[in-house]
Amino acid sequence: MAAITLRELTKVYPNGVRALDALDLEIADGEFFALLGPSGCGKTTLLRTIAGLELSSGGSVRIGDRDVTSLPPGQRDVAMVFQDYALFPHMTVRDNIAYPLRIKKVGKADRQDKAARTADELGLSALLDRRPGQLSGGQQQRVALARAMACHPQVFLLDEPLSNLDARLRLEARTFLKRLQRELGVTTVFVTHDQAEALALADRIAVMEGGRIRQVGTPTEVFRRPANTFVAGFIGSTPMNLVPARVRGDELAVAAVRLPVPEDVRGELTDGEQVVYGVRPEYLDYSPEPASGALTGQVVVVENLGSFSLVSLDVPAEEPDAGATTSVQVVVPEGREPEPGDTGWVTPRPGRSLIYR
Ligand code: ATP
Repeated sequence: MAAITLRELTKVYPNGVRALDALDLEIADGEFFALLGPSGCGKTTLLRTIAGLELSSGGSVRIGDRDVTSLPPGQRDVAMVFQDYALFPHMTVRDNIAYPLRIKKVGKADRQDKAARTADELGLSALLDRRPGQLSGGQQQRVALARAMACHPQVFLLDEPLSNLDARLRLEARTFLKRLQRELGVTTVFVTHDQAEALALADRIAVMEGGRIRQVGTPTEVFRRPANTFVAGFIGSTPMNLVPARVRGDELAVAAVRLPVPEDVRGELTDGEQVVYGVRPEYLDYSPEPASGALTGQVVVVENLGSFSLVSLDVPAEEPDAGATTSVQVVVPEGREPEPGDTGWVTPRPGRSLIYR
């Protein structure tokens, strides 16, 4: 097992695209680490650069106490699981799992034995003589994991490991993957564009945008305290409400209401300053009756999401922007949903408001 240290890691493709931009990152020994971000932000490039499948244009990659920046993939002691699993269709499950051991010139009896033991750990023993075409998506994924595990690498690199599975299987595979990683304790980096998957699985998450890291933190940290509006808008099953606001003394003018400036930023803000007020739809309480310190507006959309609904209101903006409205979303429990056209009031829960400058 080993930590991974990236220093000023840069990757510029021959077409001039700067996929990684002087990126610094430390992944701890044994950590389950997610690279999260929108399409094209550089997640796969970062994973492939750690694996050695791409050579960096600048900066360094260390795995444990070794600088592996210029080493080929085979000498980095990492195992990568690809999005499409990349299994050999003509080989049995047994031979697929044993393949990397064959490359490492492990003797036949030994590698058959290791493949059988790894297959057993992943619940694949009954499938050893099948070919990939005779397996379900979830089983193929396990074979790909088994093949990566068989060599006992220092680092696992997983590229969108669950994206080929349907929604139900994905949940099952998620639990399985988390348990497996815990048991093995191998430093694992996985790429995902699905924030719910990253929050559910990872010890820590790096949120990327345009080849840079915008925030690194535990799921709780990036959910509760997104460092900037990009992360705030990206994390959470419903994006955070981000409303233009102005500092007015000790208060914040948000739409037509005055709210207290959150304690943690009091003293940092200047009177009259334009800021962005952030609050998650889950941390707003909806009421059909007027409430003090509440934003008020007209309900425009009610989305039924099972045990709760996501209600969107058009809230009139502050005085100087009269006529403009801003959209605010609030989570409303089952049975208390308003109708489109209703007037509603939403109150932020104490301690849940964030300010971005
Ligand atoms: P996705 O979630 O869509 O897979 P990603 O975050 O993994 O995206 P990358 O695949 O790392 O992003 O791509 C980062 C940027 O580099 C993109 O702008 C992409 O078009 C570009 N890129 C990726 N591979 C190459 C390549 N081989 N040659 C040139 N540009 C590339």
